[in-house]
Amino acid sequence: MSRERAKLVVGNWKMHGRIKDNAALLTEVAAGASALQNEVSVGVCVPCPYLAQSQALLAGSVVRWGVQDVSAHAQGAYTGEVAAEMAADFGVTYAIVGHSERRAYHRESPELVAAKARRALDAGLTPIVCIGETLDERESDATEQVIGGQLDAVLLVLSEEEAARIVIAYEPVWAIGTGKSATAEQAQSVHAFVRAKLVEKGAAVASVPVLYGGSVKPENAQELFGQRDIDGGLIGGASLKSKDFLAICQAARTALQ
Ligand code: PEP
Repeated sequence: MSRERAKLVVGNWKMHGRIKDNAALLTEVAAGASALQNEVSVGVCVPCPYLAQSQALLAGSVVRWGVQDVSAHAQGAYTGEVAAEMAADFGVTYAIVGHSERRAYHRESPELVAAKARRALDAGLTPIVCIGETLDERESDATEQVIGGQLDAVLLVLSEEEAARIVIAYEPVWAIGTGKSATAEQAQSVHAFVRAKLVEKGAAVASVPVLYGGSVKPENAQELFGQRDIDGGLIGGASLKSKDFLAICQAARTALQ
């Protein structure tokens, strides 16, 4: 049984998109999401070059937009990086931090991810902090140790009031882009562990949304979102097709009923 509160579904486009294709996708998502009323909040995290386009097409709609990473620094000689304040100039709501692709390919440490989360908050953005274990870690029974460590690093640098403004996304690395989702039971078990750690941080943090990500599709979304501690999803591949993404958003609404 899920908790009786609004769900959140956020798309992560990763490094996909082109101006001409984005226009149709953004317009269709905005039109479809308007029917979800207040029960499901919808967001899309796009590549930075498309922030202006997203702002132009989504402003005035119910869909919020975001970035997929921010720098840990406020500004300065950091070639290629994008500051949270710069993203904020484009009306951004969400900043994904600590995605497993960044942890793996860019060797981002838990401390760096924590610094990025803090920068996003300072700029008025909502960090979506990704945590998750690899297959090796799961098979050696280290899941809670790994994601506990990733979560602790972020909670350590935030006050209770700040921590209450983040979003967590549990994304098992072995489920991302593989077509092999965690089962609803596997996901719920980790989400319950995450929830307990949030509760420990303070009463205000207990209701931080905890999203599931990893091969969510229209076919498995409702069962996943129906779990007690799963507050929605972070959607990769399926967020690139408006029909699939909107079906997942609709599944979040159905899971509430
Ligand atoms: C992601 O990249 O955050 C993700 C969940 O990807 P996918 O849905 O494609 O597994």
